[in-house]
Amino acid sequence: MMLTSFSLNRWLRSVIFLSGMCSLISCSSLSPAKRGTHLAINGTKFDRSVELKHFFKGNLHTHSQESDGDAPLNTVVEWYKRNGYDFLSMTEHDKLVDTSSHSTSKFITLPGDEITGRSYRVPIHVNAICGKSQLKGIRENRQPGAILQDQINTARADGALTIVNHPNFGWAFGAKILRKVGDFDFLEVTSGHPLVNENGGEKGISHEALWDDYLTHRGSVWGVGVDDSHHYSDFDIATKANPGRAWVQVAAHRLTATEVCSALQRGDFYFSRGPVITRLNVKGPTFTLVVSNWNSSGTVEFLGESGRTLNTTRTMPAVYQINGSEGYVRARITLNGARAWTQPYFIQ
Ligand SMILES: [Zn+2]
Ligand SMILES: [Zn+2]
Repeated sequence: MMLTSFSLNRWLRSVIFLSGMCSLISCSSLSPAKRGTHLAINGTKFDRSVELKHFFKGNLHTHSQESDGDAPLNTVVEWYKRNGYDFLSMTEHDKLVDTSSHSTSKFITLPGDEITGRSYRVPIHVNAICGKSQLKGIRENRQPGAILQDQINTARADGALTIVNHPNFGWAFGAKILRKVGDFDFLEVTSGHPLVNENGGEKGISHEALWDDYLTHRGSVWGVGVDDSHHYSDFDIATKANPGRAWVQVAAHRLTATEVCSALQRGDFYFSRGPVITRLNVKGPTFTLVVSNWNSSGTVEFLGESGRTLNTTRTMPAVYQINGSEGYVRARITLNGARAWTQPYFIQ
């Protein structure tokens, strides 16, 4: 469905381009149907409307001693409960742990399993969230894209939502390979794990640039921020994968696994390493967001196709009006040295 509307966007933009040339060249070559589309351009708007206000905070990538974390499961769950989280998915390597006994009316757990595969020597990891079964990764000397796709397909067949984890961990795969992979829900854009090379380097572009590449050339996929937490007693930003660094804020109707999983699937969430969005409204041609505790150091960047900057503002509420050429619009907030990211909203 997303790919269809994406193709339509591209077609529409070529019509917009041709129509824009009308003042310079004769328009007689445009068919009546295309002229009709030109008339509709004034009605250009986002492909979906949202009014997101009430969010539940959660982490979708977490390890304990059930796999390679350094604390017992109970300690890990208690850390997240104590530190203001509403939900948590334990994602042990190739292991589905029953965490349902930890759910209360104020804190819930979602089923999770980090499908831990390997292609030749590089790690290919996919998180299966909200699924039913324990799933194991594929370790074979096959191409990374093929293994990634097989793991995604297996998770989807189990009814799970899928996160493509840390592409730059071990420099496993880049944009060329990722563009050929489909049917996943989320891409890990930011992580608390210090060894995943999320900012890119000589061997690859950043995770955020990979996200824009996919959005521009392939279609819609939601970005996520996760802890990928392993270490719960020794805290060190450079060497330890500690909890509490990156999270998702999900606008679900109620705090139940069904509602949170549905909201994640719809893309009704943002992800953050600090800034708190209190309202996100996308309607017609207007994108508005409000960030709490705003101060003059803060910026909101509105970004479009290929990650190009459309506008930067320090004004709150931050408002962006589309002109129809953006492809998609997403916002990145920087406040007090930390960032938050909205999902992309495509132009219809
Ligand atoms: Zn992993
Ligand atoms: Zn992990």
